[in-house]
Amino acid sequence: MNKSYNSEPKCGAEDVSEEDMELINSYSRKKLKAEDVFVFSAVLCDNEIDRDFERFSVESLKTLAELFKGKTAIKNHSMNSEDQSARTFKTQLVTDESKKNSLGEPYVYLKAYSYIPRIKKYESLIEEIESGIKKEVSVSCSVGKSICSICGADLRQSACHHKKGKSYKGKLCYLELNDPLDAYEWSFVAVPAQKNAGVIKNFKDKEENTVAQDAVKSIKELDSEIILSREDVKALRDYIVSVETQAQDGREYRKALETETVKLFALTSPEISNDCTKSICKSLSTKDLKELNGALKEKNRELSAPQLVKAKQQSENSLNSQFRF
Ligand SMILES: [Zn+2]
Repeated sequence: MNKSYNSEPKCGAEDVSEEDMELINSYSRKKLKAEDVFVFSAVLCDNEIDRDFERFSVESLKTLAELFKGKTAIKNHSMNSEDQSARTFKTQLVTDESKKNSLGEPYVYLKAYSYIPRIKKYESLIEEIESGIKKEVSVSCSVGKSICSICGADLRQSACHHKKGKSYKGKLCYLELNDPLDAYEWSFVAVPAQKNAGVIKNFKDKEENTVAQDAVKSIKELDSEIILSREDVKALRDYIVSVETQAQDGREYRKALETETVKLFALTSPEISNDCTKSICKSLSTKDLKELNGALKEKNRELSAPQLVKAKQQSENSLNSQFRF
Protein backbone atom coordinates (compact mmCIF):
# COMPACT_ATOMS: atom_id res chain seq x y z
CA MET A 1 0.00 0.00 0.00
CA ASN A 2 1.15 3.48 -0.77
CA LYS A 3 1.57 6.20 1.72
CA SER A 4 1.80 9.69 0.45
CA TYR A 5 3.22 11.87 3.08
CA ASN A 6 3.43 15.60 3.00
CA SER A 7 6.22 17.03 5.06
CA GLU A 8 7.21 20.54 5.95
CA PRO A 9 8.56 22.41 2.98
CA LYS A 10 12.30 22.35 3.55
CA CYS A 11 14.63 22.06 0.64
CA GLY A 12 17.97 23.68 0.08
CA ALA A 13 21.33 23.58 -1.63
CA GLU A 14 24.20 21.80 0.13
CA ASP A 15 27.98 21.77 -0.16
CA VAL A 16 29.49 18.63 -1.63
CA SER A 17 32.22 16.74 0.21
CA GLU A 18 34.60 14.15 -1.21
CA GLU A 19 32.67 11.43 0.62
CA ASP A 20 29.49 12.66 -1.02
CA MET A 21 31.14 12.43 -4.42
CA GLU A 22 32.09 8.82 -3.73
CA LEU A 23 28.49 8.01 -2.82
CA ILE A 24 27.17 9.89 -5.85
CA ASN A 25 29.54 8.05 -8.14
CA SER A 26 28.36 4.72 -6.75
CA TYR A 27 24.99 5.57 -8.36
CA SER A 28 26.28 7.23 -11.51
CA ARG A 29 27.28 5.37 -14.64
CA LYS A 30 29.69 8.11 -15.61
CA LYS A 31 32.29 9.38 -13.11
CA LEU A 32 31.14 12.78 -11.95
CA LYS A 33 33.12 15.64 -10.43
CA ALA A 34 31.82 18.02 -7.76
CA GLU A 35 31.24 20.75 -10.34
CA ASP A 36 29.10 18.35 -12.40
CA VAL A 37 26.44 18.02 -9.75
CA PHE A 38 24.05 20.11 -7.75
CA VAL A 39 23.44 18.68 -4.28
CA PHE A 40 20.49 19.56 -2.12
CA SER A 41 18.78 18.23 0.96
CA ALA A 42 15.13 17.84 1.85
CA VAL A 43 13.19 16.70 4.88
CA LEU A 44 11.20 13.73 3.65
CA CYS A 45 9.17 12.73 6.67
CA ASP A 46 9.10 12.92 10.46
CA ASN A 47 7.51 11.47 13.58
CA GLU A 48 4.74 14.07 13.72
CA ILE A 49 1.07 13.15 13.25
CA ASP A 50 0.17 14.32 9.76
CA ARG A 51 -2.99 15.73 8.23
CA ASP A 52 -4.36 12.24 7.70
CA PHE A 53 -3.84 11.47 11.40
CA GLU A 54 -1.06 9.05 10.61
CA ARG A 55 2.55 9.10 11.62
CA PHE A 56 5.73 7.14 11.20
CA SER A 57 7.35 5.67 14.30
CA VAL A 58 11.04 6.44 14.81
CA GLU A 59 11.75 2.78 13.97
CA SER A 60 9.91 3.22 10.67
CA LEU A 61 11.90 6.37 9.91
CA LYS A 62 15.11 4.38 10.48
CA THR A 63 14.01 1.72 8.02
CA LEU A 64 12.84 4.35 5.52
CA ALA A 65 16.24 6.07 5.76
CA GLU A 66 17.78 2.85 4.41
CA LEU A 67 15.04 2.26 1.84
CA PHE A 68 15.27 5.74 0.33
CA LYS A 69 18.97 5.45 -0.48
CA GLY A 70 19.39 5.35 -4.25
CA LYS A 71 15.75 6.20 -4.94
CA THR A 72 14.82 8.91 -7.37
CA ALA A 73 13.26 12.21 -6.55
CA ILE A 74 10.77 13.33 -9.12
CA LYS A 75 8.83 16.48 -9.70
CA ASN A 76 5.10 16.51 -9.01
CA HIS A 77 4.80 12.70 -8.74
CA SER A 78 5.06 12.52 -12.48
CA MET A 79 5.32 9.12 -14.09
CA ASN A 80 7.38 10.62 -16.87
CA SER A 81 10.92 9.25 -16.69
CA GLU A 82 12.14 12.59 -18.08
CA ASP A 83 11.30 14.03 -14.68
CA GLN A 84 13.42 11.57 -12.75
CA SER A 85 16.02 14.20 -12.37
CA ALA A 86 17.42 13.77 -8.87
CA ARG A 87 18.75 10.78 -7.01
CA THR A 88 19.02 10.42 -3.26
CA PHE A 89 22.54 9.25 -2.37
CA LYS A 90 22.56 9.80 1.38
CA THR A 91 19.95 9.84 4.12
CA GLN A 92 20.15 10.91 7.71
CA LEU A 93 17.89 10.48 10.70
CA VAL A 94 18.02 13.70 12.71
CA THR A 95 16.75 14.17 16.26
CA ASP A 96 15.97 17.77 17.13
CA GLU A 97 16.07 17.77 20.94
CA SER A 98 14.97 21.39 21.07
CA LYS A 99 11.71 20.58 19.36
CA LYS A 100 8.94 18.23 20.50
CA ASN A 101 6.26 16.66 18.34
CA SER A 102 2.61 16.93 19.35
CA LEU A 103 2.96 13.77 21.46
CA GLY A 104 5.70 15.44 23.51
CA GLU A 105 8.45 13.25 22.02
CA PRO A 106 11.69 14.64 20.61
CA TYR A 107 11.18 15.65 16.99
CA VAL A 108 12.83 13.18 14.61
CA TYR A 109 13.00 13.64 10.87
CA LEU A 110 14.43 11.92 7.85
CA LYS A 111 16.71 14.11 5.77
CA ALA A 112 17.62 13.07 2.26
CA TYR A 113 20.59 14.34 0.27
CA SER A 114 20.12 14.17 -3.47
CA TYR A 115 22.02 15.23 -6.55
CA ILE A 116 21.04 16.59 -9.92
CA PRO A 117 23.47 16.52 -12.86
CA ARG A 118 24.34 20.07 -13.87
CA ILE A 119 23.19 19.81 -17.45
CA LYS A 120 21.09 22.23 -19.48
CA LYS A 121 17.94 20.15 -19.10
CA TYR A 122 17.92 20.61 -15.33
CA GLU A 123 18.97 24.27 -15.18
CA SER A 124 15.55 25.63 -14.30
CA LEU A 125 14.93 22.93 -11.73
CA ILE A 126 18.23 23.69 -10.00
CA GLU A 127 17.38 27.38 -10.07
CA GLU A 128 14.03 26.67 -8.46
CA ILE A 129 15.63 24.80 -5.60
CA GLU A 130 18.44 27.33 -5.19
CA SER A 131 16.10 30.29 -5.07
CA GLY A 132 14.39 28.65 -2.12
CA ILE A 133 10.92 28.56 -3.57
CA LYS A 134 8.82 26.83 -0.96
CA LYS A 135 8.64 23.13 -1.52
CA GLU A 136 6.31 20.45 -0.42
CA VAL A 137 7.68 16.98 -0.28
CA SER A 138 5.66 13.85 -0.70
CA VAL A 139 7.00 10.35 -0.19
CA SER A 140 5.65 7.19 -1.66
CA CYS A 141 6.28 3.99 0.25
CA SER A 142 4.51 0.92 1.55
CA VAL A 143 4.17 -0.13 5.17
CA GLY A 144 3.31 -3.50 6.64
CA LYS A 145 1.48 -2.33 9.73
CA SER A 146 -0.94 0.47 10.61
CA ILE A 147 -1.45 0.44 14.35
CA CYS A 148 -4.42 2.13 16.05
CA SER A 149 -3.08 4.40 18.80
CA ILE A 150 -6.06 3.61 21.05
CA CYS A 151 -6.35 -0.18 21.00
CA GLY A 152 -3.18 -1.31 19.24
CA ALA A 153 -5.04 -3.18 16.49
CA ASP A 154 -3.17 -3.59 13.22
CA LEU A 155 -5.64 -2.30 10.67
CA ARG A 156 -3.87 -4.25 7.93
CA GLN A 157 -5.05 -7.41 9.71
CA SER A 158 -8.30 -6.50 11.43
CA ALA A 159 -10.62 -3.56 11.88
CA CYS A 160 -11.34 -1.66 15.06
CA HIS A 161 -14.12 0.78 15.89
CA HIS A 162 -11.88 3.79 16.54
CA LYS A 163 -11.88 6.70 14.13
CA LYS A 164 -8.75 8.58 13.13
CA GLY A 165 -8.77 12.17 14.33
CA LYS A 166 -11.29 11.51 17.13
CA SER A 167 -10.40 11.64 20.80
CA TYR A 168 -11.13 8.78 23.18
CA LYS A 169 -10.96 9.76 26.85
CA GLY A 170 -8.73 12.66 25.88
CA LYS A 171 -6.45 10.49 23.75
CA LEU A 172 -6.20 11.24 20.05
CA CYS A 173 -6.73 8.34 17.69
CA TYR A 174 -4.12 8.16 14.94
CA LEU A 175 -2.42 5.41 13.02
CA GLU A 176 1.19 4.57 13.61
CA LEU A 177 2.81 3.39 10.40
CA ASN A 178 5.23 0.59 11.14
CA ASP A 179 7.32 -1.94 9.31
CA PRO A 180 8.02 -0.08 6.04
CA LEU A 181 8.36 -2.63 3.24
CA ASP A 182 9.54 -0.48 0.38
CA ALA A 183 10.17 3.10 -0.63
CA TYR A 184 9.37 3.93 -4.23
CA GLU A 185 10.24 7.53 -4.79
CA TRP A 186 9.78 10.93 -3.34
CA SER A 187 8.68 14.01 -5.13
CA PHE A 188 8.84 17.69 -4.60
CA VAL A 189 6.32 20.16 -5.76
CA ALA A 190 7.15 23.77 -6.38
CA VAL A 191 4.78 26.09 -4.61
CA PRO A 192 4.46 29.69 -5.73
CA ALA A 193 5.75 31.93 -2.97
CA GLN A 194 2.88 34.41 -3.10
CA LYS A 195 0.02 33.82 -0.79
CA ASN A 196 -3.18 32.72 -2.52
CA ALA A 197 -1.23 32.03 -5.69
CA GLY A 198 -1.93 28.36 -5.42
CA VAL A 199 -1.48 26.97 -1.94
CA ILE A 200 -4.83 25.78 -0.79
CA LYS A 201 -3.64 23.54 1.96
CA ASN A 202 -3.62 26.31 4.56
CA PHE A 203 -7.33 26.97 4.38
CA LYS A 204 -8.07 24.14 6.79
CA ASP A 205 -9.44 26.12 9.72
CA LYS A 206 -12.15 27.85 7.71
CA GLU A 207 -15.69 26.64 7.22
CA GLU A 208 -15.86 23.62 4.93
CA ASN A 209 -17.77 25.42 2.24
CA THR A 210 -15.31 28.30 2.25
CA VAL A 211 -12.49 25.79 1.84
CA ALA A 212 -14.13 24.46 -1.31
CA GLN A 213 -14.96 27.92 -2.64
CA ASP A 214 -11.40 29.10 -2.03
CA ALA A 215 -10.14 25.98 -3.73
CA VAL A 216 -12.38 26.54 -6.73
CA LYS A 217 -11.34 30.21 -6.88
CA SER A 218 -7.66 29.28 -6.80
CA ILE A 219 -8.17 26.62 -9.46
CA LYS A 220 -9.91 29.17 -11.71
CA GLU A 221 -7.21 31.80 -11.22
CA LEU A 222 -4.22 29.56 -11.45
CA ASP A 223 -2.35 27.99 -14.25
CA SER A 224 0.50 26.44 -12.29
CA GLU A 225 0.51 23.61 -9.73
CA ILE A 226 -1.97 23.46 -6.91
CA ILE A 227 -1.48 21.44 -3.79
CA LEU A 228 -4.53 19.94 -2.18
CA SER A 229 -4.54 18.26 1.19
CA ARG A 230 -6.83 15.31 1.77
CA GLU A 231 -9.17 17.63 3.70
CA ASP A 232 -9.30 20.06 0.80
CA VAL A 233 -10.10 17.19 -1.52
CA LYS A 234 -12.90 16.06 0.83
CA ALA A 235 -14.31 19.60 1.02
CA LEU A 236 -14.11 19.87 -2.77
CA ARG A 237 -15.84 16.52 -3.18
CA ASP A 238 -18.72 17.58 -0.89
CA TYR A 239 -18.91 20.87 -2.74
CA ILE A 240 -19.08 19.08 -6.10
CA VAL A 241 -21.90 16.83 -4.80
CA SER A 242 -23.90 19.87 -3.64
CA VAL A 243 -23.25 21.69 -6.91
CA GLU A 244 -24.37 18.59 -8.82
CA THR A 245 -27.64 18.55 -6.87
CA GLN A 246 -28.18 22.22 -7.64
CA ALA A 247 -27.36 21.57 -11.29
CA GLN A 248 -29.96 18.78 -11.38
CA ASP A 249 -32.56 21.15 -9.90
CA GLY A 250 -31.56 23.71 -12.49
CA ARG A 251 -31.95 21.22 -15.34
CA GLU A 252 -35.42 20.24 -14.10
CA TYR A 253 -36.46 23.89 -13.82
CA ARG A 254 -35.16 24.55 -17.33
CA LYS A 255 -37.06 21.57 -18.74
CA ALA A 256 -40.32 22.67 -17.09
CA LEU A 257 -39.82 26.21 -18.37
CA GLU A 258 -39.25 24.96 -21.93
CA THR A 259 -42.37 22.75 -21.84
CA GLU A 260 -44.52 25.59 -20.50
CA THR A 261 -43.18 28.06 -23.07
CA VAL A 262 -43.91 25.65 -25.94
CA LYS A 263 -47.49 25.32 -24.63
CA LEU A 264 -47.83 29.09 -24.40
CA PHE A 265 -46.64 29.39 -28.01
CA ALA A 266 -49.29 26.88 -29.05
CA LEU A 267 -51.96 28.95 -27.31
CA THR A 268 -50.81 32.35 -28.49
CA SER A 269 -49.29 31.57 -31.90
CA PRO A 270 -50.89 28.33 -33.11
CA GLU A 271 -49.63 29.03 -36.64
CA ILE A 272 -46.05 28.17 -35.55
CA SER A 273 -45.37 24.44 -35.37
CA ASN A 274 -44.47 22.75 -32.08
CA ASP A 275 -41.15 21.58 -33.51
CA CYS A 276 -40.22 25.14 -34.39
CA THR A 277 -41.15 26.57 -30.98
CA LYS A 278 -39.34 23.69 -29.26
CA SER A 279 -36.12 24.46 -31.07
CA ILE A 280 -36.53 28.19 -30.37
CA CYS A 281 -36.88 27.44 -26.64
CA LYS A 282 -33.89 25.10 -26.66
CA SER A 283 -31.62 27.65 -28.28
CA LEU A 284 -32.34 30.42 -25.77
CA SER A 285 -30.42 31.10 -22.59
CA THR A 286 -32.44 30.46 -19.45
CA LYS A 287 -32.60 34.21 -18.81
CA ASP A 288 -34.03 34.91 -22.28
CA LEU A 289 -36.35 31.92 -22.05
CA LYS A 290 -37.71 33.25 -18.77
CA GLU A 291 -38.36 36.63 -20.39
CA LEU A 292 -40.07 35.03 -23.38
CA ASN A 293 -42.15 32.85 -21.07
CA GLY A 294 -43.30 35.93 -19.15
CA ALA A 295 -44.19 37.80 -22.35
CA LEU A 296 -46.15 34.84 -23.75
CA LYS A 297 -48.01 34.44 -20.46
CA GLU A 298 -49.02 38.10 -20.65
CA LYS A 299 -50.10 37.71 -24.29
CA ASN A 300 -52.07 34.60 -23.40
CA ARG A 301 -53.91 36.50 -20.66
CA GLU A 302 -54.82 39.28 -23.10
CA LEU A 303 -55.98 36.80 -25.69
CA SER A 304 -58.01 34.69 -23.31
CA ALA A 305 -59.65 37.66 -21.56
CA PRO A 306 -61.72 38.87 -24.59
CA GLN A 307 -62.34 35.24 -25.45
CA LEU A 308 -63.90 34.79 -22.03
CA VAL A 309 -65.98 37.91 -22.55
CA LYS A 310 -66.92 36.66 -26.03
CA ALA A 311 -67.73 33.23 -24.65
CA LYS A 312 -69.82 34.82 -21.93
CA GLN A 313 -71.56 36.99 -24.48
CA GLN A 314 -72.11 33.98 -26.70
CA SER A 315 -73.59 31.99 -23.84
CA GLU A 316 -75.78 34.95 -22.93
CA ASN A 317 -76.78 35.25 -26.57
CA SER A 318 -77.58 31.58 -26.70
CA LEU A 319 -79.56 31.97 -23.53
CA ASN A 320 -81.33 34.92 -25.03
CA SER A 321 -81.90 33.05 -28.20
CA GLN A 322 -83.41 30.29 -26.18
CA PHE A 323 -85.78 32.82 -24.79
CA ARG A 324 -86.48 33.96 -28.29
CA PHE A 325 -87.95 30.70 -29.09
ZN1 LIG B 1 -8.59 0.95 17.67
